[in-house]
Amino acid sequence: MGITPQPGIMDIALYQGGKSAIAGRTDVLKLSSNENPLGPPPSALAALAKAAAGVHLYPSTDHAGLRLAIGEVHGLDPDRVICGVGSDEVLQFVTQAFAGPGDEIIHTEHGFSLYPVLIHMAGATAVKVAERERQVDIDAIIAAVTPRTRVILVTNPGNPTGTMVPVSKLERLVDAVRDDIVIVLDGAYTEYADGYDGGTALAGSRPNVLMTRTFSKIYGLGGLRIGWGYADREMIDVMTRIRQPFNLSVLQLSAAEAAIRDRVWVENCAALNSAQRARLTGALRQLGWACDEAHGNFVLARLADEAEATAVDAALQADGILVRRVGGYGFPEGLRITVGDEDQTGRVITALTRWREGA
Ligand SMILES: *Cc1c(COP(=O)(O)O)cnc(C)c1O
Repeated sequence: MGITPQPGIMDIALYQGGKSAIAGRTDVLKLSSNENPLGPPPSALAALAKAAAGVHLYPSTDHAGLRLAIGEVHGLDPDRVICGVGSDEVLQFVTQAFAGPGDEIIHTEHGFSLYPVLIHMAGATAVKVAERERQVDIDAIIAAVTPRTRVILVTNPGNPTGTMVPVSKLERLVDAVRDDIVIVLDGAYTEYADGYDGGTALAGSRPNVLMTRTFSKIYGLGGLRIGWGYADREMIDVMTRIRQPFNLSVLQLSAAEAAIRDRVWVENCAALNSAQRARLTGALRQLGWACDEAHGNFVLARLADEAEATAVDAALQADGILVRRVGGYGFPEGLRITVGDEDQTGRVITALTRWREGA
């Protein structure tokens, strides 16, 4: 009998991250992982430097300082906040805590590719629900619920689609399904979506709704791995029991605390993103490529077909620009392009225009 892994583990396809290098080039523009073009906030770097002298001491196990900061900034009860190693870990807590072998977890057609990984890690069965015109289809989700459904995962705004489900539809979903089903609203791109609360009101008022948020995108701290969730105290208590007590280091905690209090940073990054996103969307459409109104820090360009996507991707790489192929997300004809700063956006538009004119 050799070693025998737990059910589901061997169904996991290893996560594919965005490419980060092109052989022989030092001027690579990485627009493949939705990272912040402005880098990390100086406020967080200062906090990191200060915290470095204290890394011989164990971090707090309750994350009280960071939860307090999150609570103050967002007007939330800190006792209803849980922090993780990226929001990915919070998503792992919820799938592991509420589903196991024989249970079903619903995710959507073009949803985050980490979800099936987490579902298999929990030993549960992944149920993939079709989207409608690149929009999460609430009615299709409701129709897919069975007595075995335990968790529903919804990304809003979507990645890689960039589209949004209005809060009224999210409310309809919560109202329509059994209250023992956990509904997760993954709000990784909330700060870029004008007027959206990320699911705060729903998570605040319904005992079975979890909102997840991250420091990896607008806060520019993807390399540090910090995220958080907000839900009813009872759900937080359940998830805290499977959270490792020292999951976040003193560096992660101090940088995140400084970053979340840096509201000027968030405002500036959101304003830059909004302007450059509109510019990139307009340029793509002008070049004859379809793309939906985007609500995150990236745009999904839909090219003629897979062959054209391959050709444009190759041309961009020849210009030192990395974007994301999204065949694995159901868009073989798609290229997901992270919104950069003014110069970076100009560089990608120039490269795309050159390909178009030469094609
Ligand atoms: C980037 C992203 C996250 C954030 O993951 P972290 O673990 O916080 O870095 C979560 N969900 C989606 C859909 C994302 O695109």
